[in-house]
Amino acid sequence: MFYNSIKNKLNIKNFIDIFFSNLSKDKNLYFPVKISKLNKKFIFSLKNLNYNNFAFSLLRIFLKDLEEEDIYRLINISYSSNFFDNVIKIDKIFNNNYLLNLNNGPTLTFKDIAMIPLGNLLKLLSLKYKKKFIVFCTTSGDTGASANNSLKNIRETKIFTFHPFNMISNIQRKQMTIFKNKNIFNISILGNFDISQYLIKKIFEKINNNKKINLISVNSINWFRIIMQVIYYCYSSLKIYDFKKINFLIPSGNFGNALSAFIAKLLGFPIEKIITCTNDNYFLDNFIKNNNYLNLPLKKTITPSIDISIPSNFSRIINSNFLKKYEMNYLNKSFYSDKIYNKNIINSIEYFYNMYNKLYDPHTITCLSSLKKENKKENMVVSTSYPIKFIFSIKKIMPNIKFTNNLKKIFFIKEKYKIFSQNFFVLINFIKKCII
Ligand SMILES: *Cc1c(COP(=O)(O)O)cnc(C)c1O
Repeated sequence: MFYNSIKNKLNIKNFIDIFFSNLSKDKNLYFPVKISKLNKKFIFSLKNLNYNNFAFSLLRIFLKDLEEEDIYRLINISYSSNFFDNVIKIDKIFNNNYLLNLNNGPTLTFKDIAMIPLGNLLKLLSLKYKKKFIVFCTTSGDTGASANNSLKNIRETKIFTFHPFNMISNIQRKQMTIFKNKNIFNISILGNFDISQYLIKKIFEKINNNKKINLISVNSINWFRIIMQVIYYCYSSLKIYDFKKINFLIPSGNFGNALSAFIAKLLGFPIEKIITCTNDNYFLDNFIKNNNYLNLPLKKTITPSIDISIPSNFSRIINSNFLKKYEMNYLNKSFYSDKIYNKNIINSIEYFYNMYNKLYDPHTITCLSSLKKENKKENMVVSTSYPIKFIFSIKKIMPNIKFTNNLKKIFFIKEKYKIFSQNFFVLINFIKKCII
């Protein structure tokens, strides 16, 4: 597969080029030049493979310029041999619907599944190209812990993880700031998520990549993360295929997962619709329903990981060359969306607990609530996080609830992070000092 900037079709690149440069010269995102439907026979020949061999068969297509042995090793270092049944799993839930559990990785978020191989890829490329990677991440929730965890033993890299001071849950902050590893720097910005993102953008403008040092963003725009996400949508759609294509319901923030599911559909996997579920920040919902942009002020909700004003991966489909071929029509037919207001999310947490005796995380609840509302059948909900991370919000709704606390340990570990104002010069001087 080859890639080009969503705005400039002429400059065709391979995977490693776009991985090293993050964005194109014209500061746009990259997208595949062409995503061709795979042969049906080939797709169904993959049905009985285990997750690792399945991933290998697809990664060969996306990562044509990596050696096959490297791809094979990358997967097998990252995932255990029975990864799908041990870590992922599909459960049957009410009304013949399914739950795709993606939240059982080391930091209890679905982000781990793509982040772990990303850490291993950085190690592999660092040794091969003799580069030092300086990794940047900004988080409004789970990304930070997942990125730090994946890079903690990758000594060839340094990672700077930004979070908005006091604007993520206590547990999410603790999960990310307890790492003692010397290559991890946690930076707390007095400002919101957008400001953290803006500061990182400026850092990328000020520090240029050279032969030795290469800056990498591991936020949702990172193309390798998208690829690793595509794989779980392909695998799970095929796994439950019974002559009927499945719809995926996905709590959507930066649109990385919805885009990944869409790519799985374009490849020919048995997927009917991708249903994005949003909260009071419903830019995406409005766009999918009405095809226009809405500039809403950001609202704080019980689902912080999807509190996003304009999803960063969105331009990937809106501007891609792909659109000219298949037209808006195909997009409209592939996506469907719903918005669930905060009050309804809160009510639904309680409803599902009372009804099914199970506590779900508020993000996953957006999708379950959408299913319940319309009495939908035969859909697959993507489970993205763990309720324990939102214990304080949930305790406000249900004070007597008992949690199975698999994170108890982290409460007693000392945190490591530095607080910064929005002063760019102070920040960049600190970073430059750490890089040398
Ligand atoms: C990141 C995240 C999302 C949103 O995923 P996108 O791919 O950015 O749309 C949803 N839920 C949780 C818990 C997350 O951490």
